[in-house]
Amino acid sequence: MAVESDTFDASVRRRKIGNLSNQSSSSDLLNNNNNEKFSDLNERDFDADSTTLDPSVTEALKRTTEHLPHDEALNKLKEIGAKTPILPSQIGTDFSFKREIVWKNAIGFLILHLCAAVGIIMGLLLMPKFYTYLYTLVLLYGSGLGVTMGAHRLWSHRSFKAKTPLKIFLLWLHTLAGQNCLYVWVRDHRQHHKYSDTDADPHNANRGFFFSHVGWLMSKKHPKVKEFGKKIDMSDLEADKYIMFQKDHYKLLYTLFALLLPTSIPVIFWNEDPIIALFFVYFGRAIVSLNFTWLVNSAAHLYGTRPFDKTIFPVENMVVAFFSVGEGWHNYHHAFPWDYRASELGSPLNVTGFFIDILANMGLIYDRREASSNMIKNRCMRTGDDSHKVYGTDEGRSAFTTLFNIWKHPSNPTYNSIYSPKPKIINSEGYALIEDELSKNEKDEDLLSRENEELQAQRKQSLDLIDADKIKKYIVGKSEAEKLIGGCVDASDKNVKKLHNNNEPEFKPLMPVDSDKSKLNIDVDSALFTKI
Ligand SMILES: [Zn+2]
Ligand SMILES: [Zn+2]
Repeated sequence: MAVESDTFDASVRRRKIGNLSNQSSSSDLLNNNNNEKFSDLNERDFDADSTTLDPSVTEALKRTTEHLPHDEALNKLKEIGAKTPILPSQIGTDFSFKREIVWKNAIGFLILHLCAAVGIIMGLLLMPKFYTYLYTLVLLYGSGLGVTMGAHRLWSHRSFKAKTPLKIFLLWLHTLAGQNCLYVWVRDHRQHHKYSDTDADPHNANRGFFFSHVGWLMSKKHPKVKEFGKKIDMSDLEADKYIMFQKDHYKLLYTLFALLLPTSIPVIFWNEDPIIALFFVYFGRAIVSLNFTWLVNSAAHLYGTRPFDKTIFPVENMVVAFFSVGEGWHNYHHAFPWDYRASELGSPLNVTGFFIDILANMGLIYDRREASSNMIKNRCMRTGDDSHKVYGTDEGRSAFTTLFNIWKHPSNPTYNSIYSPKPKIINSEGYALIEDELSKNEKDEDLLSRENEELQAQRKQSLDLIDADKIKKYIVGKSEAEKLIGGCVDASDKNVKKLHNNNEPEFKPLMPVDSDKSKLNIDVDSALFTKI
């Protein structure tokens, strides 16, 4: 069987680029350093998520950036993002938009953070009593669960149902967290998911870490946030009398349950100093809790891996998962927002998922929704960055960096993918928020399992072709090196056998054979493979 190398190159490249690239011939792409970088861009950044990317826009973006290295291409895209006409039926990010700072909020947050710093210093100087530390930790976790289990997974995403007593308890915990009333929290969060990382997303991560962390709360809203905010369906919350009660009386409830009650308890029950109670228990705890939540909007959209969808910003970030009571598996969460686990597996760090399961066993929670294993597998194969521990590839799993290239583990806060997606333009109806909004195809298990088999076959074929491509280069390179050193090509080489599907290769040595390899002074195999 003859090896038709050009065909291999072309088909591998076509498969990787998908239906986006008809511009350059595949062999051209492989022959030039810049184009090698572009080929990475194609694979990593332009792979279409057919549900959200308009092919004509992607083509235009690709044409503008195809000869540029990755960083330059990214800058160019940001530049043209401001000028590219976006259809009325689409939404993206206008990078020329100037934010207007709301100074009242900025100064307010500065003062809150200074007061919190005083409280944290008191804590570090061991000024609070022992019970105050324990009590604050319980409040921190409890209020965290009010946000993650209540505001987020129950009310924003309706990923499970809860009995009324638990709902009231979660509403109280949410008030304790002090993150605005639940109604506004849910509206902002639904909008964040629906128009994720576009101008209609209140904390669009395209605008950088600071903006998506806290800057959005001290800037005037982008006009698209206001315009698209009106489209968010809030009828379920409006029909809930408890949630509307909290909305209507939020200032009073906040003063009582987030400030007065939590700071009075340590003073009354174990004689804590009221100043310490105010700065450590109130300011310190509230600001730490806020920052942990904000990390999900900032760090978990920028630093980590994207095993489920490489075209979106959200990432899997173990450190954020630890601090946010299990909300850092954010690539999974944006891929399947209606899944109550907000992560693929019941990870030990998914504290919120763990408590939901306990409460379900107690009968207080029911109707938990989960993505099926076929849905997960297909999504990984279709749009993942190949870093998934089961459905990924060795190449994908090693495509990350850490600071100084040490401690290569997801628990390292600097653990990050070497690829990042491009700013995205999506259809103005946005992403599906709840399971009910999915098309029938996306839920049909028979269709899913058929798609799964097809994707697996395609993946296998792709990997075989890549192997064949490497071996072809190895053979060509080896014969050239052998020419130089007067060596031989060994037709029984196990890699050549692999190329021919383990049949005896119909391979004719290109050079006169001198089978005694020990005469060679260099290790030809390893020298050549390192270049491939
Ligand atoms: Zn997000
Ligand atoms: Zn969410």
